[in-house]
Amino acid sequence: LSTPSSQAARTTQSQALFARAQAVTPGGVNSPVRAFRSVGGTPRFIARANGAILTDADGNDYIDHIGSWGPMILGHNLPAVREAVIEALAGGTSFGAPGEREVLLGEAVTRITGVDRVRFVNSGTEATMSALRLARGFTGRKYILKFRGNYHGHADGLLVEAGSGLMTDAVADGGQLNRQGLGQAAPSSAGVPEEYAALTLVSEYNDPAALDALMTARGHEIAAVIFEPVVGNAGVLIPNPEFLDALHRVQAAGVLLIADEVMTGFRLSLRGATGLLGLRPDLTCWGKIIGGGLPVGAYGGRAEVMNFVSPQGPVYQAGTLSGNPLAMAAGLAMLGALEADPGVYERLNTYTAQLAEGLKAGASAAGVPISVNQIGSMLTAFHSSAPHGSIRTYTDAARSDTAAFAGWFQGMLARGIYWAPSQFESIFVSAAHTDAHLNATLEAAAQAYAALT
Ligand code: PLP
Repeated sequence: LSTPSSQAARTTQSQALFARAQAVTPGGVNSPVRAFRSVGGTPRFIARANGAILTDADGNDYIDHIGSWGPMILGHNLPAVREAVIEALAGGTSFGAPGEREVLLGEAVTRITGVDRVRFVNSGTEATMSALRLARGFTGRKYILKFRGNYHGHADGLLVEAGSGLMTDAVADGGQLNRQGLGQAAPSSAGVPEEYAALTLVSEYNDPAALDALMTARGHEIAAVIFEPVVGNAGVLIPNPEFLDALHRVQAAGVLLIADEVMTGFRLSLRGATGLLGLRPDLTCWGKIIGGGLPVGAYGGRAEVMNFVSPQGPVYQAGTLSGNPLAMAAGLAMLGALEADPGVYERLNTYTAQLAEGLKAGASAAGVPISVNQIGSMLTAFHSSAPHGSIRTYTDAARSDTAAFAGWFQGMLARGIYWAPSQFESIFVSAAHTDAHLNATLEAAAQAYAALT
């Protein structure tokens, strides 16, 4: 492996590109989590990616642990996806009329996941936004309920106590909560009217009593509860069995359950996190892997609900590029490759479990307290003295030592390991990660932990 071996890795090109980028786009990036805001330094501008390796504009190689924030479960530049996209490309890039690839991907998704109907959109944000509109249209109710630190994309009503970059910023700013009564909270972003946020009730993840209380008080007004079945966006949080029971009670009370599997779908198993956990949501949202690295999202569920979507039903939702032939081809190739390799999830899980154990050992040897949450190929190593696996809520996660994380992140980057540039994100492992990548990552991690003390 050729990776930068010292702090002296060249960043001249990344710095120059970052300066030019800042002159043309806010903060120099097209999505905030890429900006290294909470860890400092120059974001690396990536020139190309292959397998488990990112190569930046200065020619430095990094072992990638982001996988484009989830889609690249089989590694970058997967030949099957590349070839499918090239083949589709030869037939034109967009038709504005239906085509066979949409049918094929729809058949694959319904067969694999068990939903009756699916609608393709262009991002995870569109999927959750549309699923909520559908839930409101179907139930005739206005309110939705989400959990603190869960992130469902950047639609207005979902930017309330949201995770991902908003949690990173909120903790950096002191993490104060702006609670306004039972289940009510202020928007996490400027530009979201209080009136929109007022329609979003918020409960603590993994707190069944809080969810039950809110359901008792307001359940009759709530169209849907939307949740990450395993959270990636507050760092990894794994649901307690008692919390899953409370989610079952939500459904029994006639409130729609919307599983946001944008991150976990096709990652934790072919049937996502809900398949692993035995949940049968009314609606499910997908993104990331379902598009094989092209911009795709989807939402689906049982026919009775999905038939409310336009043009069959009264809930309007549309998209110029939805069902795009290149994106459908990429998604089909990706799902095909996953289905063709039944051992892939076990291999991913084994690798990531070894990564977790190695991180624990490296940190422990250096006397650095960390608390690792890992499930399947998702992992967060919180800089926290909480016992491993015990961080279960936003509040637990937010107590992490973000300065120590930032120092460790820089140590990893300098040693050629690209980690998620925030304490409150999951990292993602791909099937292209080999034992050599694992050993190199753990050696760098041990050194980076030792350098903190
Ligand atoms: N839902 C979850 C769970 C996510 O992790 C994300 C993105 O990270 C989204 C929704 C939004 O997806 P997108 O960024 O494609 O709009």
